[in-house]
Amino acid sequence: MSYAVKEMFLTLQGEGKQAGRRALFLRFAGCNLWSGREVDRASAICTFCDTDFVGTDGENGGRFADAEALADAVAALWAGDGRERFAVITGGEPMLQLDTALIDALHARDFEIAVESNGTLPATPGIDWLCISPKAGSTVVQRSGDELKLVWPQPDIDPTALIGWDFGAHLVQPMDCGDPVRNAAAREAAIALVMADPRWRLTLQTHKLLGLK
Ligand code: SF4
Repeated sequence: MSYAVKEMFLTLQGEGKQAGRRALFLRFAGCNLWSGREVDRASAICTFCDTDFVGTDGENGGRFADAEALADAVAALWAGDGRERFAVITGGEPMLQLDTALIDALHARDFEIAVESNGTLPATPGIDWLCISPKAGSTVVQRSGDELKLVWPQPDIDPTALIGWDFGAHLVQPMDCGDPVRNAAAREAAIALVMADPRWRLTLQTHKLLGLK
């Protein structure tokens, strides 16, 4: 199959338990919880998205004819030597496009594959590090993985219902609400959740603090 890629770039993973690692981000175009158009945001299932995943016009974006072509592009962008190759596949919703052929092609190029998904689609087998970030109003079918990342606060999500899901870590991340006052309130809410239930751990979007993409 072909793939629609919004952008690809080399940076540091900023979030979650893999934070601080050199990472090649591959952002697929498209999501099943929002069209990506502002005119549709109010009526979308997911209303707080901070990512542009529309089209294929971003840095190193485009349409790739097959898994080999896309994996070659990922490997070329990694550059440097071959050690600790780490690809973070995100979106949009990556499970709309990530298939076994691409996982195999990236593994063949010695990449460890991390995925960040909303969990509404089953994860493709073979992923090395699976992060699921539930969104209020959606049905999460993928209830196991390496880390569950709860963007907080989301009024229609009950954290106590998520803590029993089969993840190696349960992380809470303050929502980026787009203005300092609401962001401060989100940080306080996330800290309060951890203080009330130490099974949760705080994670921050450190790439934003560092001025990285
Ligand atoms: S599920 Fe993720 S990519 Fe889709 S609209 Fe929500 S935050 Fe954005």
